Amino acid sequence: MEVTPGQYVQIDVLILLPSGAVIYEAKNMAGRLRFEEHPKRLDKVDEHGSITDRYDCPMLQLQDEIANLQVWFHLHGIPFGADGAVIMTGSAIIEKPPANGRIFSLREIRGHLAEKEKKTGMTVQELRQLADYIRRHNRPYIAFPLIGRFGISAEEVEWGPLCETCNSRLGRKSERVWLCPACKWKTADPFTRTLQDWFTLRSGTIVNRQVRELFGMKSPGAASRLLQFYPLNKDGDGRSTCYAWDYTTPLTRRQE
Ligand SMILES: [Zn+2]
Repeated sequence: MEVTPGQYVQIDVLILLPSGAVIYEAKNMAGRLRFEEHPKRLDKVDEHGSITDRYDCPMLQLQDEIANLQVWFHLHGIPFGADGAVIMTGSAIIEKPPANGRIFSLREIRGHLAEKEKKTGMTVQELRQLADYIRRHNRPYIAFPLIGRFGISAEEVEWGPLCETCNSRLGRKSERVWLCPACKWKTADPFTRTLQDWFTLRSGTIVNRQVRELFGMKSPGAASRLLQFYPLNKDGDGRSTCYAWDYTTPLTRRQE
């Protein structure tokens, strides 16, 4: 949800109870974890106690979400409080729990909610209205394209059609058939998967030249005919036409 223009709060699970809202921030982690203070962080350690990974502290993330939701309620004139907990959904062993702050396993949710349900506040009808109101203001969170998040450059990635069995680069065998030289896997449509990878990983848009590079096409006409099969939004004219996927409809190929 957009809290203030351009600033969003993303919530895993939001539960509305008469006494207030409850946010559950789900963390699916394995291994041994230590919540460290000053500065707050989460360390993953191996059996010898050496740190193998460092994460942002989920307790801080939860606090931000609670604060942002409270601001959202306030700005929308809704007299409603918010609270929450971090839920560990994986097999992680917590060697050192956070000094202050709630961290639960999945099984503890029931007890946590039961405790809160004892308190009164909004009526069921008011809660339904609030739930509808929140739904209307919810914007789907789109994390794509992902490339910026992994610190890898576009040059390091093979963007062309890949074998879905062994990930080797596919070759075009004939007009209709693409073949994996390594394992002989065949497909008539390497396009959809390749375009999905492009849009989810590399960029929200694509231009004709990039399509030709991806599929080794010579003709701009063939590249634009290919793009016609997909539900993409066109922007611009001629050579500078940009095709965008809005990520909300499936990127499937229309029947010819
Ligand atoms: Zn293969």
